[in-house]
Amino acid sequence: MSYLVDYHMHTTFSDGKDHYPAYLEVARRKDLAEIGFSDHITLAPVDWCVNEIDYPVMKENLKSLCNDFSEDVQVRFGIEVDYFPEKEEELRQLIAYFPCDYVIGSVHFIGDWNFDTDRSFYGKWSNDELYRMYFELVQKAAKSGLFDIIGHLDLIKKFQCWPESDQTPLFEETIKVIKEANVVIELNTSGFDRPCIDFYPNKKILEIAARYGVPITLGSDAHQADQVGRHFDKALELLKSLGFNQIVRFRNRVRSEIKI
Ligand SMILES: [Zn+2]
Ligand SMILES: [Zn+2]
Repeated sequence: MSYLVDYHMHTTFSDGKDHYPAYLEVARRKDLAEIGFSDHITLAPVDWCVNEIDYPVMKENLKSLCNDFSEDVQVRFGIEVDYFPEKEEELRQLIAYFPCDYVIGSVHFIGDWNFDTDRSFYGKWSNDELYRMYFELVQKAAKSGLFDIIGHLDLIKKFQCWPESDQTPLFEETIKVIKEANVVIELNTSGFDRPCIDFYPNKKILEIAARYGVPITLGSDAHQADQVGRHFDKALELLKSLGFNQIVRFRNRVRSEIKI
């Protein structure tokens, strides 16, 4: 699999358990071509993100790893940034500080509610209403022009929050917006190890993405080294079965294709 990339992982700079060398070691063992570190950068007051005080050291450490071409596995500079619709200008300035190869835009918040760590508000709305609120934020994130990749596209299902009615029209509307915004989605394999036991996004959304020709990349959302490249065999098989014949990689926020 020496052509594959894993563009989504978290280290001790944010909420991951291991540091850069450990992830690189697993990537080498799994024969990945490239990995991208994408620690959490957020404007929200939470404890799972990189502390502002650590920005300069993270920037220097990661930049020098990216410039080390002696490695067989190449490293890319990524960040995973929370989208807040009312803070686009602040986000733009924040992102500009980092010499990124790519920026993952993720929706982890509906208003102030961090729905992927705090389960207490589920049930306050119908699941259909939650899907509408969540995917509207995803659409805004795609249209903002801030991001290269939309992270874990249907994260709202994480704790088995299944819609009451068929959401195909909402999924299609969202994919259409993503296509028009010329943004990439990731096949994030971490959902397979979550209560939802499914990749993000689900097969239905991937089918629609394939139909619209939305480019895709791969991410394990590893929070410890042994999760690098998790379930990639299965992910690749799924992508091929849906007609995807390439994934994308990034360098200096410019993308190119890799045949699969
Ligand atoms: Zn995330
Ligand atoms: Zn993540």
